[in-house]
Amino acid sequence: MTRRNFLAAAGAGIGSRLGRAAGSPPNIIFILCDDLGYGDLGCYGSRIRTPNLDRMAAEGVRFTNFCSADPVCSPSRAALLTGRYPTRVGVPRVLFPQDTGGLNLDETTLANALKQRGYRSMCIGKWHLGRPVEYLPTSRGFDGYFGIPYSNDMAPRVLMRDTQVIEQTADLETLTRRYTEEAQRFLEAAKGGPFFLYMPHTFPHIPLAASARFRGKSAEGLYGDVVEEVDWSVGEVLRTVDANGLDQNTLVMFSSDNGPWYQGSPGKLRGRKNTTYEGGIREPFLARWPGAFPAGRVVDGLASMMDVFPTVAGICGAPLPAKPLDGIDIRTLLQGAKESIERPPLLYFDNWDLQCARWMNWKLHIARHNTAAYTPAPPGGRHSYLLPKPELYNLASDPDESYDVAAENRQMVIDIQQKIAAMLPSFPEPVQRAWAEAKARQADPNTPTGAYPQPVVH
Ligand code: MG
Repeated sequence: MTRRNFLAAAGAGIGSRLGRAAGSPPNIIFILCDDLGYGDLGCYGSRIRTPNLDRMAAEGVRFTNFCSADPVCSPSRAALLTGRYPTRVGVPRVLFPQDTGGLNLDETTLANALKQRGYRSMCIGKWHLGRPVEYLPTSRGFDGYFGIPYSNDMAPRVLMRDTQVIEQTADLETLTRRYTEEAQRFLEAAKGGPFFLYMPHTFPHIPLAASARFRGKSAEGLYGDVVEEVDWSVGEVLRTVDANGLDQNTLVMFSSDNGPWYQGSPGKLRGRKNTTYEGGIREPFLARWPGAFPAGRVVDGLASMMDVFPTVAGICGAPLPAKPLDGIDIRTLLQGAKESIERPPLLYFDNWDLQCARWMNWKLHIARHNTAAYTPAPPGGRHSYLLPKPELYNLASDPDESYDVAAENRQMVIDIQQKIAAMLPSFPEPVQRAWAEAKARQADPNTPTGAYPQPVVH
């Protein structure tokens, strides 16, 4: 069988299965890590032992160009659950416990959409899309919630069930185990289906903690221990799905919200959390649905976390919201019918400030803020500055963004700039204002390629 014929046959089989969506939609499980690097799983080249996630990859689809919508936690999650840019949905930056807002209340979450198809849903883990009760998961389409509503380095580190605090300072060492047990209870209760389990783990965001069973057991320090415990958790979820006879009708996905912070590996990519280099935004992405998606498939085509909403909605027959989505339906990539999908550029922001754009295998850096990841802002504050010249990187030949080839590809620079200019007017006013301010702000023309710009001091 030729590759083309194989793909056609695979697509036909999947098509008939996906065709069932109208009558019998599959269960959906999305497991999200916090600050896990592109290079932190065995199936992505790590020495950390992740046999369960490696099995997910072997039995499902593994992406090598799957990008979150933002290099920090809250915006990335906002995009996952709405299919829209974080700057469109009111979450351009990380949220803190004292914040009074969150994901805009007029946005439709994936849980809202699946609810309309009769899904029972549960969120277990780190929410980080607003702390006031009207922003909590139980107000945003989920039937239940168990977890820490923001990052584990924020205080107070409360553990909540639905809208109630049940532990004033959550014990981190037992957290992954308790999340897992909660997930297993939900799966048992919801096995009549269909159900949507959204499981955003608290780890490996710092401060790190692992249970005694995993502490000191990996070859990569406490970070490795923590990831190995998360892998165990994934294995328990898969085992429970299988034990209830749900294996063939359950789509399980796994990813991370952004790249690694102080520890963890971005693989061979440049940058880490809070940078718009690939190391901050490229994530592992696995999707396993036995019998529907080909086993062991590797997709190199570009995909975004924003694609999850329209893809899952398409599979489940859930209605799309009235507001236009920025993500696209990537079922053809998952099925094997296509190797890549042409799409508009993916834009990346720092707060409201446009930083760069990814188009196909090209990355055009236009502006950059003046702090490295989580270093104190310089006198005068944290600002975004236009680069003296846009920097163009060819990710196909230069995945770690080491060699600026803008001078050799001037037309490509112009083409991507034009695509960006066509997209920007649809973004909210703060984006327009920030863009105008960045253009008005002077940057040092002597800033070297690849450097964080230094503001001109008068
Ligand atoms: Mg994160």
